[in-house]
Formats: sequence, structure tokens, C-alpha cells
Amino acid sequence: MLTLTAGADRGIRRHGRETYPYECCGALIGAAGRVVEALALPNAAEEQARRRFRIRPVDYLAAERRASEIGGGLLGFYHSHPDHPARPSRYDLEHAWPGFAYVIVAVDGGDPAALTAWRLREDRSAFEEETVAMAPDSGDKDQTGETPCPPGF
Ligand SMILES: [Zn+2]
Repeated sequence: MLTLTAGADRGIRRHGRETYPYECCGALIGAAGRVVEALALPNAAEEQARRRFRIRPVDYLAAERRASEIGGGLLGFYHSHPDHPARPSRYDLEHAWPGFAYVIVAVDGGDPAALTAWRLREDRSAFEEETVAMAPDSGDKDQTGETPCPPGF
């Protein structure tokens, strides 16, 4: 199961709306299967950005840096499917890495719709769909990230 905080869910949907009719992409940052931040990244697929996304190594490193800043890790990536179902394409399968969660949001006519999550099988033959749970944003107003509150607070 992958948990998205309300803020991460909003961020993914907003980004999909902004880049429509092109695909958006970004990093899922958090810890223990809980995504607390959706970090927007540029889509480096210069051709066919309506149907593909590509994350440059420099942006991958920026996402890892951002994750360590907030005391978390890089849990995976999200991207949008403009006017296309929220299911991984053959291209997505060929370019996925094991161990990461992949979130896809369908954007129908400019409006974010279904959101799904996927994980690559160990043998990389296919994706398995993962349940997506929504969680409220943590209530603390302290955004320094220096001392994360223990779970339950
Ligand atoms: Zn895709």
C-alpha cells in the first residue's frame, strides 16, 4: 500500500493540470510508504512528451537531496497520462526501476481524474497495482524539517 498525504495528492493533480496536454513528472518523497511531498521535475522527453516522460540524472539527484533535507527518502515517481487511462504503458514498463512506487494520474480533457499506483515485479515482467490510501497532512506548522515529530503526534 502507498499512502499519499493530501498535499502530495494535490501537488500531483495540480502539476498534471498545468502541463496538460503534455505529461508531467516528479518524485515521491517520504518515508515508510507514506508520500509527504510530490516534487515536480521537468519532463526531459523532448519529443513525444504527450506520451512519455523522462527524468534527467541531475533532477534525480535533486530529488534525492530534497528527500534527505526533509529526513525522508525517494519512494518513487509520478507522471500524468493526458487523455489516457491511469495504467502503465509499455514505455513505462521498460523504463521503470524495481523498488520504486510509480503513481499515474489520468488527466481527462485537462481535469485530473483517476490516480493509481504501481510497483515493478522483481523480474521486471510487469507492474503490480498497489492500493493508494489518502492521509491528511500532518498538523504541525513547523516546516523546518529539523526535528520530525514522532509518529502519532
Ligand atoms: Zn506513462
